Amino acid sequence: MAKLTWHGHSCFLLETDDGTRVMFDPWLDGNPMADISAEQVDRLDYLLVSHGHSDHFADCIPLAERTGAMVVSTFELVAFCQSQGVEKGHGMNIGGGYQFPFGRVKLTPALHTGSIAGDEEGAFTTDCCGFLVTLNSGTRLYHAGDTALIMDMQLLRDQVELALLPIGDNFTMGPDDAVRAVEMIAPERVIPMHYNTFDVIRQDPAAFREQVGGRAEVIVLQPGESVDV
Ligand SMILES: [Zn+2]
Repeated sequence: MAKLTWHGHSCFLLETDDGTRVMFDPWLDGNPMADISAEQVDRLDYLLVSHGHSDHFADCIPLAERTGAMVVSTFELVAFCQSQGVEKGHGMNIGGGYQFPFGRVKLTPALHTGSIAGDEEGAFTTDCCGFLVTLNSGTRLYHAGDTALIMDMQLLRDQVELALLPIGDNFTMGPDDAVRAVEMIAPERVIPMHYNTFDVIRQDPAAFREQVGGRAEVIVLQPGESVDV
């Protein structure tokens, strides 16, 4: 059984049954919701980064350098990491998938603006993405990244067991649109993310769970808590 732990905002750690450790959107230091610091992450194999904004990317390069983890993201974001000294990167693009030892990763569309924190010259263009991860067990996990509600989510219908969806509003879809995303995707379980980190994205996840109702099981995690996947 794989395990997924929320570290606040959009940062999750996936530990697969063979011991592979995959972190999504690494932002720990400076993340008011994080239960651990970047320094407390001792071992990582992969970093999956949805886009270059600092609240998803800030700890990526230091963690990749210290742990030797491979950065998996859009081609340009990986190229930027490599220009900064990261050794292992795997660039992809939206709609493309690749079989990694721990599972298949496919980049999904996400509608959001893009820039790369630390790219002083703005030399690396960037688009935002989400991730559809098919574990070797067959379980499919969707990390939506930062996104508006988009019709493309209909393409994920019945393709996802566990969906990680932003509900914060202001920078991403809010609870009402996240409920519509649940209707489109029809996952078994949903974990809300990207809320309560800042005042402008304050939301009540229990109210979101009520809004979703019987459409899916909504699991509200506290930072540091895990679910089996
Ligand atoms: Zn964000």
